[in-house]
Amino acid sequence: MPKILIINTGGTISMTSSARGYVPDGEAFRAQLSGMELLKARTMPQWELMETEPLLDSSNMTVSDWNRIGGLVADNYDAYDGFVILHGTDTMAYTASSLSFMLQGLDKPVILTGSQIPLAEIRSDGRGNLIDSLLIAAEGKVKEVCIFFGGKLLRGNRATKYSADELIAFVSPNYPPLAETGITVEYNESALLKRQPGPFSLQVLDEIPIGVIKVFPGIQFSLFDQIMTEKLRGIVIETFGAGNIPNGGSELLPIVRRAMEHGTVMTVCSQCTQGTVSLGTYEASSALAEAGAVSGRDLTTEAAVAKLYYLFSKGCSAEEVKRLMETPICGEEKER
Ligand code: ASP
Repeated sequence: MPKILIINTGGTISMTSSARGYVPDGEAFRAQLSGMELLKARTMPQWELMETEPLLDSSNMTVSDWNRIGGLVADNYDAYDGFVILHGTDTMAYTASSLSFMLQGLDKPVILTGSQIPLAEIRSDGRGNLIDSLLIAAEGKVKEVCIFFGGKLLRGNRATKYSADELIAFVSPNYPPLAETGITVEYNESALLKRQPGPFSLQVLDEIPIGVIKVFPGIQFSLFDQIMTEKLRGIVIETFGAGNIPNGGSELLPIVRRAMEHGTVMTVCSQCTQGTVSLGTYEASSALAEAGAVSGRDLTTEAAVAKLYYLFSKGCSAEEVKRLMETPICGEEKER
């Protein structure tokens, strides 16, 4: 009988309402779980529950929380067949992306899930999400970090939160779902990540100074002069379309060049959720490539941020980070 560890970190699934809106409520959540007869069914795997302290609205998650969650998986790795991490939806894609890099050599399922409606409420989507996540984790077919939500199992580092109120809250615009649940669970076998080489280990992340800039018409790049100092190690720029910035970057270029000389790695992502950055396709993006920015290709912003944290935490030089940002490590971007 497979044994699954549920790690509750908070989020709507374990919230109840207070005078100031929804807040995590561990006691109410534990009461809900023990009242769920389906979780005791013979066809369910064995499971145990751990909680991180304090339970969080995921908008409060930090790098040290990712390290805590990764540490719980690593400490309990041999004792369980899979892991289900209950997490708020707001930053679930960031945590899933980070864990996908941190849990090296993973050969067990790690599934993040949660809900849009608290488990304590009648129409909660949390019951279905939790039960399906436990069954998929017990089946053990996937050996990667995933998000299960609204009937779809998505690669964690390809997913992004797409809806603030629909029950299918996540999409994976540049990679097909790993599985979909209907009457049965249909796996997309060819999309599953092959087991990563090497023994399982945890790469802890450091609090690397990273920035994200979203360009918009009329953006005054000179304002960024102050923050693009040698203190900034990595920057993700969310550009238009295939990597384009206003005025071909004439205003941004001197600032970018100076930042690069300081060793800052600039990664170019797109504001479009679907498609690939292609620097140099338009004149409006050529200057970024000439200045030494790297193409984030089809990375989500979440995965680009997580990958920068990971590579700098591993001690890679700026040159190595630039090379590896364009090299798939665990299925986060397409092969060249
Ligand atoms: N604010 C909540 C969170 O991310 C939203 C949710 O879980 O759906 O923790």
